[in-house]
Amino acid sequence: MSSSSSTSSSPGLRLCYCKKTPCLQTSWTDDNPGRRFKGCENWKNGGCNFFRWFDPPMCPRSMVVIPELRREKIRVASENDQLRQKISSLLDEKMNLERTIANMGFENSNMARRLCSLQGENSNQRRTICYLEDENVKLLTNISHLEDSIARLTTKNKMMQLVIVVSWMFFLVIWFA
Ligand SMILES: [Zn+2]
Repeated sequence: MSSSSSTSSSPGLRLCYCKKTPCLQTSWTDDNPGRRFKGCENWKNGGCNFFRWFDPPMCPRSMVVIPELRREKIRVASENDQLRQKISSLLDEKMNLERTIANMGFENSNMARRLCSLQGENSNQRRTICYLEDENVKLLTNISHLEDSIARLTTKNKMMQLVIVVSWMFFLVIWFA
């Protein structure tokens, strides 16, 4: 739409200086915006400079309104392009965020599984500690019993030594009497 003219062929009219059928084109200059003319079909590639207006001269109002409308159309098209780009970049961003959320969900479920397994290990360790504490209490009770036994045996031992000493003294007294 930014070119200064558009073309279409129209057979049956007089020929250009190259003896070819001139084609219908549209001017987009400020003075003749949207006014059609006939020109050489090869004017861009070494053709002739044949030129005839096809439409009647433009009214002054059209010369003001049509360029304004065309500029507005170009501006809207450009804005439209920018909005499309923005939408496309927002869609990309959305896709990235969705991927990130999916990854986080995956990590979250991994962490939940890990937490579960740690809680399981923790309760196993608590059970082991309980068991070891029970064993410890039993061992302390056994030690206490053994200490009592040792104390009793020590007392018994002293008594026996006393009996032996008294017996020897009694024997000596009898012997020397
Ligand atoms: Zn020509």
